[in-house]
Amino acid sequence: MARYTMKFGGTSVGSPEAIAQVVEIVKDFLAEGHELAVVVSAMAGVTDMLLESAAAAAARDRARYLAISDELRRMHTKVIEGLIDSDADRAAIDAEMEELLRSHVELCEAVYILGEVTPRISDALVSFGERLSSRVIAAVMQARALPARQLDSEAFIVTDNQFGDAEPLWGETEARVAGSLRQELDSGLTPIITGFIGATPDGTITTLGRGGSDYSAAIIAAYLDCDELIIWTDVDGVMTTDPRLDKRARVLPYVSYQEIGELAFYGAKVLHPKTVQPIINRGIPLRVRNTFNPKHSGTLVGARTQASATVIKAVTGIRDVSMLTVSGRGMLGVPGIAGRTFLASAKAGANILMISQSSSEQSFCFTVVDPLAQAVKTAVETELQREIQHNNVDSVDVLSDIVIITVVGSGMRGTPGVAGRVFSLLGENRINVLAIAQGSSECSISFIIAEADLERAVGKLHSLALETVENDRINGVGSPY
Ligand code: ASP
Ligand code: MG
Repeated sequence: MARYTMKFGGTSVGSPEAIAQVVEIVKDFLAEGHELAVVVSAMAGVTDMLLESAAAAAARDRARYLAISDELRRMHTKVIEGLIDSDADRAAIDAEMEELLRSHVELCEAVYILGEVTPRISDALVSFGERLSSRVIAAVMQARALPARQLDSEAFIVTDNQFGDAEPLWGETEARVAGSLRQELDSGLTPIITGFIGATPDGTITTLGRGGSDYSAAIIAAYLDCDELIIWTDVDGVMTTDPRLDKRARVLPYVSYQEIGELAFYGAKVLHPKTVQPIINRGIPLRVRNTFNPKHSGTLVGARTQASATVIKAVTGIRDVSMLTVSGRGMLGVPGIAGRTFLASAKAGANILMISQSSSEQSFCFTVVDPLAQAVKTAVETELQREIQHNNVDSVDVLSDIVIITVVGSGMRGTPGVAGRVFSLLGENRINVLAIAQGSSECSISFIIAEADLERAVGKLHSLALETVENDRINGVGSPY
């Protein structure tokens, strides 16, 4: 018998058919005598709809948010009608759903009157997605005689008040998860928990950021001291690259915590980038599996870093980024320019994806997402106004139509020649590299190329990853349970 936390994402709970599949998976694990905590996302598309309802309310478009409310009713009712047979059971969950829908519309009305949505109200509004899905799923399971019990995570995920991107207050969260949530499991129940949502110590609802249900599940897995965290999604596992960039993409049987962290950060949309944080110290393995293909053993993520001869395991590309270059001969030896630049960028709301500076100190560059590039340029120019006036800084240039390519493999640590192979391959294929960065974690190498070269570069580098998968297969790395 083992204890699992499993999380089902939006598509895994996106239709009556999908939820029926979820119920089968849960049933099978329970039949094998395991203990489960189940974390669920909102039905696919619902979080976006709720955000749209907030925007519509702020724009005084009542018709739109009422239409969204109707659409939410339709989606959840379809699940209830499709999967719950008894009239009484249906009526009960229907009433719960109606109450939530009413609260949602009431909040929209409040926004309508105020004419603006604060981050705090926005979090309260988007929380309805998981509140609805978890209740409906628990009701379906109960109707099939599973010991499911819906739980709202704000009771035990305690966070700071950074609305929209809250961070757990670890001590309090641990106490509650290991305390009251653990008791639910001990008493033989299978909690069906809202992902994504937390609350401040005074009980105000917060969310953990888009895609945050993965993170919720990892926090719960850590403090329930689970044997494994399973992230159920709609693909067979973590792939060597995006199959839209190269059709040869394959599922990686095994990746390390560090590798998955880099992959999540650099554009492989499988997991929320913070997911491994809570489980890494406890060494809890994570498995990414496909709800729609449960026979596949998925990708195992764990502590072991295994260096196969080829090292590189995956290649990602991030589009829609721009590179900003701050340059000037007068920057040499002047401390603080980079610091002020990054602070100005942060104040403009930009998350910096990659930084590179050569030691001549005459320029450095960094990348931000496209929509923020001009705002960051303006913010940095304002910050460096004096330096620009005195010609110590010449200019802040923006280069668009570029991509960040990252090759990931923790085996590159201490293995000479990996960067050499990567850049030789690019050179042989006449692909120009605009900037390079390798973190000292030595787990990935990132570089910038023209967007036009994206598919060609990924195709070439991906061959290295495919070799690694093949080696791992021969060596039996990451074999199924
Ligand atoms: N429902 C939330 C979102 O769409 C959280 C999640 O699905 O992980 O971002
Ligand atoms: Mg997700």
